[in-house]
Amino acid sequence: MSSLPPVEPVPAASVAGFDHECDVLVVGFGCAGAAAAYEAAAAGADVLVLERAGGPGGSSAVSGGELYLGGGTAVQKACGFEDTPDDMFAYLMAALGPHADEEKLRLYCDGSVEHFEWFRERGLTFNESLYDAPSWMPPTQDGLMWLGENAWPYNTIARPAPRGHRPATESFGGWMIMEKLVAAATEAGAVAHADTQATNLVIGDDGRVAGVVARRYGAPLTYRARRAVILTTGGFVDSEELLRQHAPVLLGHGKVSDGLDDGSGIRMAAAAGAATRRMSVVEIALTALPAMLTRGMLVNGLGQRFVNEDVYPGLFSVAAVLHQPGPYWAILDEEGYEDIPKRDLWGVRPRFVAETLTELEESLGMPPGALESTVGVYNRHAERGEDPYFHKDAKWLRPLRPPYAAIDPRRGFGAGDRESSGTGVAGFTLGGLHTTVDGAVLDQSGRPIPGLYAAGRASSGIHGDGYISGTSLGDGTFFGRRAGRAAAGRPLPGGTLVTEG
Ligand SMILES: Cc1cc2nc3c(=O)[nH]c(=O)nc-3n(C[C@H](O)[C@H](O)[C@H](O)COP(=O)(O)OP(=O)(O)OC[C@H]3O[C@@H](n4cnc5c(N)ncnc54)[C@H](O)[C@@H]3O)c2cc1C
Repeated sequence: MSSLPPVEPVPAASVAGFDHECDVLVVGFGCAGAAAAYEAAAAGADVLVLERAGGPGGSSAVSGGELYLGGGTAVQKACGFEDTPDDMFAYLMAALGPHADEEKLRLYCDGSVEHFEWFRERGLTFNESLYDAPSWMPPTQDGLMWLGENAWPYNTIARPAPRGHRPATESFGGWMIMEKLVAAATEAGAVAHADTQATNLVIGDDGRVAGVVARRYGAPLTYRARRAVILTTGGFVDSEELLRQHAPVLLGHGKVSDGLDDGSGIRMAAAAGAATRRMSVVEIALTALPAMLTRGMLVNGLGQRFVNEDVYPGLFSVAAVLHQPGPYWAILDEEGYEDIPKRDLWGVRPRFVAETLTELEESLGMPPGALESTVGVYNRHAERGEDPYFHKDAKWLRPLRPPYAAIDPRRGFGAGDRESSGTGVAGFTLGGLHTTVDGAVLDQSGRPIPGLYAAGRASSGIHGDGYISGTSLGDGTFFGRRAGRAAAGRPLPGGTLVTEG
């Protein structure tokens, strides 16, 4: 028996009179909802936005604010990098793959410079400087960062250029993006109703989505959408039951969300016949610091290396959590630890230190000789500036010497010496409603459900089995914009013509 609230669509004929009416009704005021609301209102539609929380923001507002953009943006040029949409596409096809969505990705890469300028026109500023080391989140105001483009094997697939664009604020910048996008949507004429949770779609006799039923402080409300409803309600990492059904790999791990990603929009649309895609695909982050791993190594519970440590951290996280026996350890020597700038240490300290690898592997519960053998092979090649197993960049290669340290990702960032009950892993979901490049939600037969659109993590976007930071805010806003325009009857160029069923 399901513990999930019922979401069956309500027949329009059963609604005696609608409490509110608009042309385009956007459900969810995160980045995808704000982009959709702005574009629909700018195209002349009368727009209402429903938000179940007390105000706009969603996971977008608490996010890092990294935006994956490229193809030759002004910031890339100012920092001395040449880039093309083709190189960006080749990198993302590999890094977001296998099975990245080729059609959406092509449009995303071809439109990336324009999308960057769209952010600037909405008032977002990006400093013209590069943070030149692998990181989850640079502790600086640099406007550009690498997201694994210069790491093997990706540097053999496409010409490397940094594409992580960051708003001009230190550390987490999602709040700044949302501040600008909410202001833009509001100035364009979109009106928000906060504390208002959509619970069911309303469907007319002709099969067209005609609005939603919602609840505010427990009281029911009905909304009519003359043109379309756009679902931008986020993903489903906060629903244990949906995780159990579709993405059990995240069960028991931390949640990368604002706590309201319960998949309500996906469920409402699915109950009305919508198809979903890639519901098992997730973003996974292992609480291990690139600054440590590049200077040392990441090993599995058997003391073996398994990945190039200077790839985008989400990719070493996937390699570990999905494919290797845990627990995972960052192994480092004292010289490497001392070499890390304090600002990149994030309060993380070794869990075990030892003069010999025999001692260290015993403390970590590894088979005798396991770590000794891994470090021995690594050192032999590092002496010559080589890493024939995983091709870590030569600038990080140096034989590890005693004393050694092991860092435990389960302790989390900033935990110091404290014990932690976490798994050292957190993530969010990437699968969702099956949509066209213009956000039209498709049914099980591949036909658009009339009057229904979706974008952001409520939909399946550009991702295959991989994730790169910045591609969620990136594709959420890019395809949110397209959905807003299409819902208002003024689609942006580049879409395929689809006939509503
Ligand atoms: C700590 C953290 C760091 C991150 N860093 C990055 C990063 O740097 N770059 C990046 O690209 N991504 C990052 N992400 C991921 C990214 O923030 C999200 O995937 C993205 O913001 C999703 O956008 P969205 O518009 O689809 O959903 P959200 O921003 O979550 O918005 C959905 C909104 O819908 C509302 N809602 C839900 N259901 C209903 C309903 N039934 N009725 C009314 N309202 C409803 C929610 O309250 C919410 O406000 C990060 C996430 C977190 C939590």
